[in-house]
Amino acid sequence: MSAPVEHDTDRLAELVASLVLAQLGGRDDCWWNPQQVAEYCGHARQFIATDQASGGLHSHQRGDRGRRFTKRSVVDAWMQGATPDQQAQVCGCQRFSRWAS
Ligand SMILES: [Zn+2]
Repeated sequence: MSAPVEHDTDRLAELVASLVLAQLGGRDDCWWNPQQVAEYCGHARQFIATDQASGGLHSHQRGDRGRRFTKRSVVDAWMQGATPDQQAQVCGCQRFSRWAS
């Protein structure tokens, strides 16, 4: 009778491991500068910077001359055709929209 129990325990361990990995994956978001975004999605850095400046790609900037940064999850949404509003939701900053550039 012990074999089925061990089997179930293995399955449970696998399930827990996959859930933990999924959570870690969700937390593994990070801020990327235009160069990092460009390397990720294969566009030229200038294309990324231009789209960030025009608002096509959601980004944040500290100060008028600072670099723009975009979260990786937002880049994924942008690649899938998300609108700027949808990208702001993915970013999680929509309620602070006065800060978004
Ligand atoms: Zn944002």
